[in-house]
Amino acid sequence: MSHQRHFEGIPVSPGIVTGKAFRLDPRRLSAEPRPIPEAQVEQEVERFKKAVETSKTQIQKIRKKVEKDTDSSHAAIFDAHMFMLDDPILIKETVEGVRREKKCAEYVLSQTVDRLAVLFKNIPDDYFSSRATDVYDVANQIMNNLRKVTSHPLRTLTEPVIVVAHDLGPSDTVMMDHSRVIGFVTSIGGPTSHTAIMAKALAIPAVVGVAGIADEVSSGDTLIVDGGGGRVILNPTEDELKKYEALQRKIQEQEQTLCLLCELPAETIDGHKIELSANIEIPDETAHVRSHGADGIGLFRTEFLYLNQPTIPDEEEQFALYRHVLEEIKPKPVIFRTFDLGGDKFISGVRFKELNPFMGLRAVRLGLANPEIFKVQLRAILRASPHGNAKLMFPMVSCVEEVNAVKGLLKEVRDELDSKGIPYSREMEIGIMVEIPSAAITADILAKEVDFFSIGTNDLIQYTLAVDRVNERVAYLYEPYHPAILRLIRDIINAAHRENIWVGLCGEMAADPMTAIILIGLGIDELSMGPVAIPEVKRVIRNIRLADAQRLTEEILQMGTPAEIRCLVTAYARQLM
Ligand code: PEP
Ligand code: MG
Repeated sequence: MSHQRHFEGIPVSPGIVTGKAFRLDPRRLSAEPRPIPEAQVEQEVERFKKAVETSKTQIQKIRKKVEKDTDSSHAAIFDAHMFMLDDPILIKETVEGVRREKKCAEYVLSQTVDRLAVLFKNIPDDYFSSRATDVYDVANQIMNNLRKVTSHPLRTLTEPVIVVAHDLGPSDTVMMDHSRVIGFVTSIGGPTSHTAIMAKALAIPAVVGVAGIADEVSSGDTLIVDGGGGRVILNPTEDELKKYEALQRKIQEQEQTLCLLCELPAETIDGHKIELSANIEIPDETAHVRSHGADGIGLFRTEFLYLNQPTIPDEEEQFALYRHVLEEIKPKPVIFRTFDLGGDKFISGVRFKELNPFMGLRAVRLGLANPEIFKVQLRAILRASPHGNAKLMFPMVSCVEEVNAVKGLLKEVRDELDSKGIPYSREMEIGIMVEIPSAAITADILAKEVDFFSIGTNDLIQYTLAVDRVNERVAYLYEPYHPAILRLIRDIINAAHRENIWVGLCGEMAADPMTAIILIGLGIDELSMGPVAIPEVKRVIRNIRLADAQRLTEEILQMGTPAEIRCLVTAYARQLM
């Protein structure tokens, strides 16, 4: 009889799903042993050699850039990688292996890497044993080039599966074949990790931070994932299967009822209207945005377009995608957030070895350090702007100098477009995300410089409470109801309104009906969330009075602990429903 077990984790995307597990290899290096016909073996060897050469060019390019932008000590890591790409074992053994075994290069490479990593690890010298990581890095780079974009293991699934992994990065989730991945579970991760956000966006039930699950589940096991309750059942009994099927039907019925609200405005009983917008990560999501009755796109996380690509998307490619999204959503607005790379999202092959990536060269910092990459994006957004209702937003702003710097860059791009007679929207609103405590505390100064704010609570909570948003070990401290957070939000909203600019909120707090009530009481103008959350938040808004939410919020702001606050809001919400 199959091994049965119940697991608990952090619920991040609601819904119940039952299906077969697909265990993702932790190093993403596993590959099926695809046989190669005798006549095509040399072609396969050439394909491998080409992937190695491409990797060399990519690494050399990155090395030059890093050397130019930082100091040469950071570039040294790439020397080690270049060295590996000429390594006789890694390269020669793989070539010989393809010829000998007549299997695809991906498979032979994964086998060679495993042997080589063991070899390095066994050398009793710290320097050499840590080189095993370099072997994996380099092999990953070659593997990406071999696979191109289309053959990521999550792209080539042949049946519906629940993905089980130690960790899933945003570069994996962006590659998922959405029609085949019906749920996922990871051993690590926090409630607002980008993996969790992506699951919600795609309405895929998901649980993260499930300790040890990746070691216990094998591909082919049956799983029940309860994404709302944070439960996972490995090889469930017949009774459990029946119970969860019934629950799943009930949830589906509730969703259908909620969808009836899609065409109605998000307006309180006493006539106060809130804009309810959608967050998207990839252009495919625009259909969800429309079907869930959003008032527009409040956050387009454009950095997802850069993930898992062999090269950075060029201006034409970006322009076409931005234009497409604008045309799909118009006349409603689309807020383009410039790329928020760094943190937990990296461009293929460019992974700086930073000790604290969330506090490192991320978002506008990375853009300002790489103006030639940043300007390509700004040009693409500006060129797309006449095709709909575009707004532009900069993430991770920490001070007024950064606002001036990004505006300076924007002016350069506008001047270049003007000189070539290329049209763009001159009225486009420019806003910033307020997600760093320094920006929140100086919101009165920043509000004078921009047309709107969008509060990024996912990061604001992480930085204010010093709690890593992707670390399940400290997830219990990640607290949206913390008085420090609520006071900061109150102050940001007041500062924005004093300068007559509007203020939205696009962190996960917007998607929770309970916190949404508080935000409305605090005076928020717009809430932006994963499209599937919109109907439920709208239902709550249509059942409250602004005056009541304000009274409730005043009371909450006097409270000292998250537990008291949560208790009061829950009681209020219960009485409403
Ligand atoms: C946030 O920080 O709240 C936010 C919306 O941006 P992201 O989750 O992409 O960092
Ligand atoms: Mg953020």
